Amino acid sequence: MSAAENTVTMLYPRPADDQSRLAALYRYDALETASCDDFTFLTELAAKVCDVPYAFITLVDAERVFVKSFTGLAVDSMPRGQCYCSLAVLGDEATEICDLSKDARTAGMPLTTEAPFMRMYSSVPLTTSDGHAIGTLCVMNTKAGCLSTAQREMLRKLARQVMALLELRANEKALKASMDELEMLATTDELTGLHNRRSLMNRLKFEVARTRRFRTPLSAVMVDVDHFKNINDEFGHQVGDEVLAAIGRLVRENVRVIDVAGRYGGEELCILLPNTPLDGARKFAETLRSRIEAQVHSAGARTVPVTASLGVGSFNHMDIDDAEMLLKQADAALYRAKTNGRNRVEG
Ligand code: GH3
Ligand code: MG
Ligand code: MG
Repeated sequence: MSAAENTVTMLYPRPADDQSRLAALYRYDALETASCDDFTFLTELAAKVCDVPYAFITLVDAERVFVKSFTGLAVDSMPRGQCYCSLAVLGDEATEICDLSKDARTAGMPLTTEAPFMRMYSSVPLTTSDGHAIGTLCVMNTKAGCLSTAQREMLRKLARQVMALLELRANEKALKASMDELEMLATTDELTGLHNRRSLMNRLKFEVARTRRFRTPLSAVMVDVDHFKNINDEFGHQVGDEVLAAIGRLVRENVRVIDVAGRYGGEELCILLPNTPLDGARKFAETLRSRIEAQVHSAGARTVPVTASLGVGSFNHMDIDDAEMLLKQADAALYRAKTNGRNRVEG
């Protein structure tokens, strides 16, 4: 903050629609996000066309004016009361002050009284389709003077381009957000919050390819809830669902970001552990087994005892070299865990 910001407190008028204007501004999510070449190109063009050293694209926030891009003077943001642009969002189609030092609204502003001693300001508001002025495209000069009609017209056209670019960026962001959400929905199992089977199998192919390429270990852990049918029969399907959801949460809390945990089938989960040899995978499986056993589930006043059996498989370049064999090995180990008494790890 400059010394001027501390000493000068300017009062400035606010448009009547300031609240809805700000809501419109925030929809663009453009404040404080990095500028890009396209915006800089437009300020350069505005300065050139108007034959002045300074041009800015500004966004007028509640208390500060943010500079989206600049030509001639590097500014990040400034208090709204010290910026000519606060006058330019009051509803006029354009604002031009040909001698800032002689206009009562601007004569005392720091940009006028201190270096670079601005004298001329001309701007066109950036207006949204629903009529809110969210900022400006403005040009400034240290010499007093007015723009020609042709220059004003060009500035107006350039402001429309700035607005179109802001719209484009906002649409791109919204599109990306919906694509991310769709992708999330398409790859996630709703009940457990883990990868669904299709996504799990895709990731498995990918991890196997990576393991082959980089010769790193890859392990898989199959988890199957013990006597889950009995849980459904005794406590109801709804409780069964709650148990699966709770185990899903537990698994998510216990895996690393690089691990891939998915719902392989009904009450069977599969966790891929990249960069993990058999020994490490066994330790992980044992920890998970004991945490599943310790997790408390209730159905009304009753507690629901839940355990799981786990089978571990590990990619080894000698006798296992594809995804199917890795899962088969984990599945065979799981079968042994079941036949050896359940609530245990084999592999
Ligand atoms: P085991 O110890 O041998 O694994 O016995 P189990 O009862 O768990 O195995 P089984 O394969 O006989 O039964 C699995 C049960 O899981 C049957 C099926 O109805 C139930 N199940 C599968 N998906 C879901 C689900 O999404 N919600 C609920 N509540 N139950 C499910
Ligand atoms: Mg089971
Ligand atoms: Mg099963």
